[in-house]
Amino acid sequence: MSQRDPLLIGQGLRKVYGNRTVLEVDQLELFRGELLAVFGPNGAGKSTLLRTLAMLEKLTAGRVEFHGKSGKKGEEALRMASAVVFQKSHFWNDTVEYNIGIGLRLRGMSRITSQERIHSICDQLAISDVRTAHMSEVSGGEAQRVALARALVLDPEVLFLDEPTSNLDTDAKLDLRTDLERVARERAASIFLITHDRTEAFHMADRVGVMRKGHLVQLGTPTDIYDNPTDVYTARVTGAEFTLAGITKATEERMVRVDVGGATFLALGEAQVGQPVKLVYRPEDLVLGPPSSPHRELSTRNLVYATITDRRDLGGLVRLRMQGPPELVALVTRDAARELSVEVGTRVAVRIKATALHAFPTASDRNI
Ligand code: ADP
Repeated sequence: MSQRDPLLIGQGLRKVYGNRTVLEVDQLELFRGELLAVFGPNGAGKSTLLRTLAMLEKLTAGRVEFHGKSGKKGEEALRMASAVVFQKSHFWNDTVEYNIGIGLRLRGMSRITSQERIHSICDQLAISDVRTAHMSEVSGGEAQRVALARALVLDPEVLFLDEPTSNLDTDAKLDLRTDLERVARERAASIFLITHDRTEAFHMADRVGVMRKGHLVQLGTPTDIYDNPTDVYTARVTGAEFTLAGITKATEERMVRVDVGGATFLALGEAQVGQPVKLVYRPEDLVLGPPSSPHRELSTRNLVYATITDRRDLGGLVRLRMQGPPELVALVTRDAARELSVEVGTRVAVRIKATALHAFPTASDRNI
């Protein structure tokens, strides 16, 4: 984990194309020992951020420091100490081992030492079987492993990863993700990853940056972001994909009481009385019980009654749509669904903790 020692610092990062600002990030640090993932939709500016942090592209304004050095000195130092893996890699028309050894040869390493290192990284990334094969003979998943091997064989201080699994099918993606995390953490001092896949970001990273329209809208540990999303977009990317529209009726410290079409909910957030808000929740945070005897836990301050309108079995989980008011969607385990014998038409008590509901003034969506 991070020792709070920033290897790379970006300050006042701005990139303008024509008259369009595509990147505007005030401060970003990459600490030694961490895996920082920046997550966001296509076009958010992630690649631009990666390319400018890697000093591969000039900034319109701002500076990047590596070990306290910027400008030409920083660029040279970072070039020697970093490696980049892009979504799609280009290879020399030669063997796997030739391609993996390129960086070592450029760094003037002896043939024997290079061979040892190439063998070792091929073992770690499970590509020993294709080590002597020609690049034209390897699969897409293997090619991406070769690209990673080529970067990791250098034991880089900073490893930049630009959507390294996005071109792979699901199985190859999951396999590579597991190996990537293990080997990259062992070989690279710090990792900067960009991805549009939230599972990738939240499962692998020590810290996640959420990017949207050129801005870093939130930066923190996955738990920080999960518990305290700063806006509806961030809440949604953590899986709080369902929203309820309501009007603020009262406010308490860091809490608001919101009327949603006749039902009242207490939620985390700040808004003014009378202000329209969106409440966001994760379907797995709804707790269902029989309508007759809902157990009233002290921490559970929201209770509504609803009728099941749709039931979908999704493997080990069951998704239930129900009408209160309001309309709600819950995700429960099969066991829970069986115990409650929920079917379309069943009446249930639905509870959700106030801390699992996040309220955002509707206008705040337009801030960025
Ligand atoms: P992401 O990696 O999140 O998909 P990008 O950083 O690739 O986002 O792009 C951010 C925005 O910058 C996009 O709108 C893209 O069209 C624009 N952009 C990226 N590179 C260029 C370029 N070389 N010239 C003009 N616009 C660019």
